[in-house]
Amino acid sequence: MLRTKKDKDSTMMQGYMTCPRRALLTYILCLRPEEPSIHLVFGQALHKAMEVFYWPSPPCFDEERVNQAIAAFLAHFQTEYSLDCEEYAPKTASNGIRLIRRYAETYKELDPSEYQTEAIEIGGNVFLDSEGKHSLWFTIDMILWQMSNSQYMIFDHKTTKGSFTQSWMDGWKNKFQLYTYNHVLHCLHSPELVKGIIINGLCVNDPPKRTKAGQPYANARDICFMRQWIYHPPERMEAWRQTAIYWCERFDADIDQLDTPSARSDTWLKAFPHNFEACTHYFGCPYLGLCQQWTNPLHHVDEVPFGFTKYEWEPDKKAREAQTQFDALSTKQEEGNQEDGQQARTPDSID
Ligand code: SF4
Repeated sequence: MLRTKKDKDSTMMQGYMTCPRRALLTYILCLRPEEPSIHLVFGQALHKAMEVFYWPSPPCFDEERVNQAIAAFLAHFQTEYSLDCEEYAPKTASNGIRLIRRYAETYKELDPSEYQTEAIEIGGNVFLDSEGKHSLWFTIDMILWQMSNSQYMIFDHKTTKGSFTQSWMDGWKNKFQLYTYNHVLHCLHSPELVKGIIINGLCVNDPPKRTKAGQPYANARDICFMRQWIYHPPERMEAWRQTAIYWCERFDADIDQLDTPSARSDTWLKAFPHNFEACTHYFGCPYLGLCQQWTNPLHHVDEVPFGFTKYEWEPDKKAREAQTQFDALSTKQEEGNQEDGQQARTPDSID
């Protein structure tokens, strides 16, 4: 199976920018490791729990919601891992439950008094240029309305373990995905109503070891939280938009090359070049063995190597499912502007 459509989302573009060859194997040949990723599953399960706290609006952290959030977390976690699996500690079911309870305790006063939830899981397709040549599918976790300053913000949950290191926090500042979300928010609302992005940091650890007296050891780590505000002014957003278009054009040119007779017959494939400097990024590239053996992956499109599986990568599917809510939000915004006597502001850069 060779998927040669040119539709894109932020995750795929991030993958392409990291290593075009890896993007080819993941999104064009649609191969992925058979083993689930605990980091992905644990993070997604916590997303499910957060949805319960923040929807319906206003946010609520009473005991009933806490129990519902734990149930949502466990239901997702169990799709891939047993509840007693300790192999990937601290990313375990028991620590997930502790984190959810601790989160409710930490934010039960602040969040209901400060935020209203505008939308969760909204999706669509946002244009990058006025000609409509380039666009990105997106699905945003959550948009909140901050009451104290009357502004909208993207609320994005990010999970880590150990501690919130400086490099972890810095990593979000120029994240392609977060620029895309910010672009969407700007298409929905006028600039003075946009606060930007809040990273809702969730850090999981095993319960701290304690002394005989029952006190945690000094420097013992436990579950903790942080929130980081990221704001991109218009000139930085424009620089991102131009950069995004540059990478989209490169991707499209690589896709076009796949369709040439030489691409299929050559010993090595010129399109989707390797970035050998990325092979050890983030736990190491799972495609290392394949990448070394397959000098031209187009000779292997129908193969499913040991340890891999074929999957359907359809960036528009989830976004389309979430688009209904997005359309409702756009209409509401348009009606609000008309009531205010303003010229109707349609999100004309969004499909
Ligand atoms: S092993 Fe390295 S060059 Fe090959 S796909 Fe992975 S990151 Fe790219």
